[in-house]
Amino acid sequence: MQDDAYLKCIDPHCGLEYPIMSTNVECEKGHLLDVKYKNKPSDKLKKTFYQRRDSQENIFNESGVWRFRELLNFCQIDTENVAECSKYLVSLDGSEGRQSKPYQMSKAAEFIGISNNKLWLQPEGYNPSGSFKDNGMATAVTHAKMVGAKKIVCASTGNTSASAGMFAANEGINCDVYIPSGQIAPGKLSQAYQFGAQIIQVDGNFDDALKQSLDDAKNHNGYTVNSINPFRIEGQKTIPFRALEYLRWESPDWIVYPGGALGNTSSCGKALMELYEWGWIKKIPRIAVINSEGASTLSDLYNGEFEGEELRWNKGNTNTELISRYYDHLDKEGIRPKTKATAIQIGRPANILKGLRALEFTNGVVTTVSDSEMLDGMAVVGLNGFDCEMASGASVVGIKKLVNEEIIKKDDVVVGILTGRQKDAMLPVEYHNNPKNKFAIPPKN
Ligand SMILES: *Cc1c(COP(=O)(O)O)cnc(C)c1O
Ligand SMILES: [Zn+2]
Repeated sequence: MQDDAYLKCIDPHCGLEYPIMSTNVECEKGHLLDVKYKNKPSDKLKKTFYQRRDSQENIFNESGVWRFRELLNFCQIDTENVAECSKYLVSLDGSEGRQSKPYQMSKAAEFIGISNNKLWLQPEGYNPSGSFKDNGMATAVTHAKMVGAKKIVCASTGNTSASAGMFAANEGINCDVYIPSGQIAPGKLSQAYQFGAQIIQVDGNFDDALKQSLDDAKNHNGYTVNSINPFRIEGQKTIPFRALEYLRWESPDWIVYPGGALGNTSSCGKALMELYEWGWIKKIPRIAVINSEGASTLSDLYNGEFEGEELRWNKGNTNTELISRYYDHLDKEGIRPKTKATAIQIGRPANILKGLRALEFTNGVVTTVSDSEMLDGMAVVGLNGFDCEMASGASVVGIKKLVNEEIIKKDDVVVGILTGRQKDAMLPVEYHNNPKNKFAIPPKN
C-alpha cells in the first residue's frame, strides 16, 4: 500500500511526479497536479459505502467525505482501522458532507420546465460551515497535518475562509485568510472572525487576493488550501460520489455546477474519469458549468466568444496563449469580474485547465446567466423549503436555460449542485420586497 499514492503533473507532455508528502501545488514548470493512485478499487466497496450509513458510532462512517475514504486514500492507511483513521483524517466530528444528497424540488422542476422525477438538486449548503468547501477542506487539512504544516493559508470569496477557519480552529492550527475588502458577504466574513482566523484585507478583487496569498504562503511557510491544492479536489469528488450512490450508481445525463475557480468542475471530472476507468460507471454524465454574465471567462473562451477560437483541453495541448491574451485583454480594457453572486466573481479561474479536461472527458457545456436570473433560482429553491445562496441559484437557472435551448433534453436526468447556503441575510428580504421579482412575496401591513 505504501507507494500507492503520488502526485503527477496534469500536462501529458510534462508528467512530472512528486511524492505524496510534497506540498507543491504545481510542478516545477508551473502546471497543476493530480493526486494519483496505483491501486484499482473493487466495486464491492459500493456496498461498504452504503453500509457505513449506519455509522455504528464511527465518525469516519458518518462523514459524507470519509465514508468514501478508499477512493481518496492519499494517507495510505488501513481504512477499516478506526484508531488509525483518527490519527490521520481531519473531520468535524463526521459532519462534513453528512447531510448532503440529491433531493427533488417540485417548484424548481416546474420553473425549469422538466418533470419532477428527472431533476435532483443537492444542497451542499448543509455542510458544517455552510458550503461545499467543507468536502475539500477536510481532505486538504488532512494533508496539511500529514506534512506537519503549522499554518494554512487561503484567499477567499468567503466560503473558503469560513471552511478553512473552522477546520483550523478545530485542529488547533493557524489560519490566514486573504479577502478582497468589501467584496464578500457579511455572513461569510463573520464566520472567519468567529473561528479566529487572521484576516488580511486585500485592496483588489479575488484574483489579486489569491496572488498575494500564494506569494505569502511561499515566503512564510504557509500551506495553501485554495482549490489549486490537489487534495481539495480529492475531497470534492465525494459530491458526485454521493449523488451517484443515491442514484444507485446509475449515471444521470447531466451534473450542473456554478463555475468560479472551477475546483468543483475539476473534482467532478476527476471523479468521473476514475469511476469510468475502474468500471464503476458505464455512462459518463455530461458536466454543465454555469458562469455569471459578469464573470464569464470560461464561457467566453470555451464558446469562442474571444477571438473566435473555442478553447479546449485538446488532450493536453490547450492553447494557453489564448488564455494569456484573454487575461491581457481584461487588464488592458480594465474589465473586472462583476456580479452580486460574489462566490463566483472570479476572472482568472485557477483550475481552468483541469476544468477544460473535465469538460472534454464529459462532452460538457458552458453557459452564462444574469444576476436577476440567479436570484430567481435562489428564490425558487427557497419555496421548496431548501436554502441556498445566489451563486447556487446559477445551477437552477442554468439548467432552465439549457432545457430551453434543448441542449438538456426533456427526459434527461439532471443533478444540479446547490453549492452553499444563504449568508447574505438581506438578499432574500430585498428580493421579496420588490414585487417585480418573479417569486416575490412582499410583506403586508
Ligand atoms: C466557491 C463557491 C463556488 C465556486 O466554486 P468553484 O469550485 O470555485 O468553481 C460556487 N458557489 C459557492 C457557494 C461557493 O462557495
Ligand atoms: Zn508539469
